[in-house]
Amino acid sequence: MSGCLFCKIIDGGIPAQKLYEDDEMLAFSDINPMAPVHFLVIPKKHVENIFELQAEDAALAGRMILKAREIAKERGCEEKGGRFIINAKTDGGQTVNHLHIHFLGGRALGWPPG
Ligand code: 5GP
Ligand code: ZN
Repeated sequence: MSGCLFCKIIDGGIPAQKLYEDDEMLAFSDINPMAPVHFLVIPKKHVENIFELQAEDAALAGRMILKAREIAKERGCEEKGGRFIINAKTDGGQTVNHLHIHFLGGRALGWPPG
């Protein structure tokens, strides 16, 4: 989608530190990490947020979660864990309107969020 920051990363117009890519998803390091391990997993097709996901996207969403888990394991976060987050819309603090799963790990995270 033109004007979408994450679509530009997918298209290569904006560089990113890619961690994984296939024909349906991309994982890359967050530019402003909030934890020692902080990456994002996004679908290649433009979906604005989790509310816009359709029933036919269920398998894709599941594969994205499993890929996020796999990368978290590769980055050494299986033993102590971390947090898988999907921010949505204004109250959720979503700043980029292209669906993304955050993973944060490598330090203890507070709860509840502010
Ligand atoms: P949100 O607040 O929408 O859940 O998360 C958006 C995330 O995208 C933020 O953590 C922010 O640091 C990250 N981000 C914003 N612009 C860029 C960029 O150009 N490159 C990368 N790698 N991450 C970005
Ligand atoms: Zn997009």
